[in-house]
Amino acid sequence: MSNYNAYSLVYKYPWLEGGREIFDPTSVSNEDEDPIEYYNQLFTKYFESYPDFHDKLLQVFSLALDKKESGIILTGDEINVILFYTVKTILTAFDNRVMENHVSNLISKLYHQRLLEETEQNLEVLCRKMNFECHFEKKQMQIGNVLYPCWVDVKNYVPTASLLKDSAYQLINRNVINGRVYLLKDNVARLLQEVVRRQIVPDRQKSGGELMDLLKKITHLSPLIDDITKLIEKKKLTQTQYESTNVYENVDYALYPPCIKYILNKATNGVNLTHSERLHIAFFYANTNHTVEETVDVFRTLPDFDEKLARYHVEFSRGIGGKGKKYRIYSCAKVKSIDMCKALDKEYGDIICAQGVFRKGEVRRIPIKTPKDFVFWKNVEIKRKLREDKVQKK
Ligand code: SF4
Repeated sequence: MSNYNAYSLVYKYPWLEGGREIFDPTSVSNEDEDPIEYYNQLFTKYFESYPDFHDKLLQVFSLALDKKESGIILTGDEINVILFYTVKTILTAFDNRVMENHVSNLISKLYHQRLLEETEQNLEVLCRKMNFECHFEKKQMQIGNVLYPCWVDVKNYVPTASLLKDSAYQLINRNVINGRVYLLKDNVARLLQEVVRRQIVPDRQKSGGELMDLLKKITHLSPLIDDITKLIEKKKLTQTQYESTNVYENVDYALYPPCIKYILNKATNGVNLTHSERLHIAFFYANTNHTVEETVDVFRTLPDFDEKLARYHVEFSRGIGGKGKKYRIYSCAKVKSIDMCKALDKEYGDIICAQGVFRKGEVRRIPIKTPKDFVFWKNVEIKRKLREDKVQKK
């Protein structure tokens, strides 16, 4: 039995039904009421009831802009709900995608931690409320060497998993038996984390400019807006920066080279990886725009998984902490020298690896040099096939 009642749940997880009404009971207000007066009263109540509200809000933005993943203690009462919606309102007003990316990452990670601390029963209740019907069973399902406590119906799984760009969550990379997708508790928390992240991102239909004009007229919000503006200026956070940093290859499973697919299959089946295999995954993921979280998730099904250690190694490979050195992807020559190349493997082998590619101006195939080359050329091949299919259909 879950030990939750509806109220305690919405205080802990404010995006659930009823959360917005706790923050902003506009549904009971008179439509003719002056919005400035209404929000002045509302926020005066909040800032006076919670004297450190200004500092806490500023701390959220400051930590997020420093790309921190912790530092805020979430409560489980009214202020938690008010904080959530005030942050969302401020993000809408600023209409700055770099900032909303950073803030939504920080907040969703804080909730990810909270979700991991939940009992399986509570997590099951929460999932249901978030339209992600998952079932924790007393008798766990053993697949390979891994015991899975939870399953989700395929139809229910796909819409939520598709929110993640992490290929580890694609159906093809999950254990599916009789229409059930088997998951670890951490997988469930990770999937919900993405749902939470999207809850914080503002609705683009709303006009940020008009809202900003309104917020600047609210006695307690105006100084906060000024402080956040100063933070943004200090960090030189512009929309151009967002656009230039956000141009990346969306490397999904279809583009992974054979050597990587082989290791991922081992990990999914709970077979321990060698040290070199772990490094190969960590360097490949670090150099193909995968997050730390996505990389740690690969190691989660290993029998010797140790979250702290895995996170340390993954962060180290990216130059976070330690000497600050970001490691490059292994070259194919290196992978071959340690006997991990799967160019000719019956299941995973690929002509790009086995025979090379036709580069511009060349009459014969030239070998690829790194697994990242494979990603590039596989992408070229897939796009060419799509074009040819289109022509044939005409
Ligand atoms: S050729 Fe390179 S990319 Fe392809 S399997 Fe071997 S090491 Fe991996």
